[in-house]
Amino acid sequence: MTSLSQSDESQCCAQYHVFSVVYLLANPLELLGRPASGYSWYVQSNGTLVLEDISAKISSAISEEVNKADKKTGKGIAECVRNASATNPILKEHSEIAKSFIENYERMNHLGGQDDPSKGKSLRGLEEHWGCEGEFMLNWKGRGYTTILDVLLNKYPDPSKAVPLQILLNKEVENIRWGSRRSSQPGLDAMNPLVQVKCKDGSLFIAKSVIVTVSIGVLQERHTQLFNPPLPANKVSTINSLQLAVLDKIYIEFTKPWWPKTPCSFVILWRDEDKAQFTQDEKWITDVFALDTVPHQPNLLLAWIYGKGAEEMEHVSLAGIHAGVNKSQWASNPLARGAYAYRSVATEQNGGEGAILLSEPLYHGDEFPVVCFAGEATSHHRHSAVHGAVESGFREAERLIKSFKKFGV
Ligand SMILES: Cc1cc2nc3c(=O)[nH]c(=O)nc-3n(C[C@H](O)[C@H](O)[C@H](O)COP(=O)(O)OP(=O)(O)OC[C@H]3O[C@@H](n4cnc5c(N)ncnc54)[C@H](O)[C@@H]3O)c2cc1C
Repeated sequence: MTSLSQSDESQCCAQYHVFSVVYLLANPLELLGRPASGYSWYVQSNGTLVLEDISAKISSAISEEVNKADKKTGKGIAECVRNASATNPILKEHSEIAKSFIENYERMNHLGGQDDPSKGKSLRGLEEHWGCEGEFMLNWKGRGYTTILDVLLNKYPDPSKAVPLQILLNKEVENIRWGSRRSSQPGLDAMNPLVQVKCKDGSLFIAKSVIVTVSIGVLQERHTQLFNPPLPANKVSTINSLQLAVLDKIYIEFTKPWWPKTPCSFVILWRDEDKAQFTQDEKWITDVFALDTVPHQPNLLLAWIYGKGAEEMEHVSLAGIHAGVNKSQWASNPLARGAYAYRSVATEQNGGEGAILLSEPLYHGDEFPVVCFAGEATSHHRHSAVHGAVESGFREAERLIKSFKKFGV
């Protein structure tokens, strides 16, 4: 097998273990500003500010419980923090408010598993997920994260040196027919593997190999329609065991900022009695877990919303709420279905190698990678982030280059 394992990936890209590849690419081009390290205010839903020493104590008690938890148990992080509220002396001492902190922690860290613990983010996954030096929250100086595409296309610093690459937008892929030794479909020569990619607009593309980067949500929803022949059973069970967090942003524009001029975040701690004031239709509001100031946008606040509330919010018209409101709709987007993948308790029950199994290509015979998989969900150590997605693209490009050389393609 020519498969490039995740450990090979680690060896050839050793520096990326320390730095985010996005940071490494963009920072030398002076595209990044320094992230604003803002102050976090912890505010209860009735408007009361939580004293700094209390919020610090409770937050570190929760973090310590997660840090010291046995990562090998295959349990979920949400289960761990919830159980800690009954045993940790600080959480017990401040039990009322600690409950709101724990709920906020679950949302802020997109832990999932509240209804079905097997869908919760796993403790073991946490241990094997690598952080990075060189700033996680990148400040693109108002340009936005899409700038990384221009960097990859070599448009910086000299646009005339951009890679002449044809990128076709609005080309929804309907079906990928791929060759394998066992398949003898018309148009696919077993000795000369070809992939046929059929798009919704009727266009057809033929290639030696393809790299598929659709989200885990799209794979879960469409894999039977997308792949012909169908994906092997182990790939399907891997896809189904990984989970997709739903996270949305709501930008709210005020005529005048009422918050401090310095960067800050208002962490929202919901109390049951305040939640009860909302009607069923408004309940999604109680899943907003923080309001952040936005660099270079003095009149904007960014509301973060997670989970079921986010899904409901996506279907609500916010037009009447405020003149300037803009929101993301990642779960409703049929080509996304959510924000990013995480390794669940079910993934651990399946052996824990979700991203590794997902990144395994579909081969022609046993050797030639015909359909490769990239995207954040295929990164064992850096899933959920853009740098994980970019690294995985490099990994699959390397794989194809090696194979093409080996087979003289
Ligand atoms: C609110 C929010 C905030 C985030 N903040 C950060 C952050 O600060 N830092 C960070 O590193 N990451 C962040 N992320 C995560 C980051 O956006 C993802 O990790 C990253 O976009 C994953 O890239 P990807 O290429 O794997 O997948 P995607 O970005 O999902 O790209 C997949 C592409 O496939 C296309 N597609 C799907 N189906 C088809 C089809 N049938 N035919 C053709 N095309 C198809 C989609 O349109 C999409 O363009 C955030 C995500 C969200 C939602």
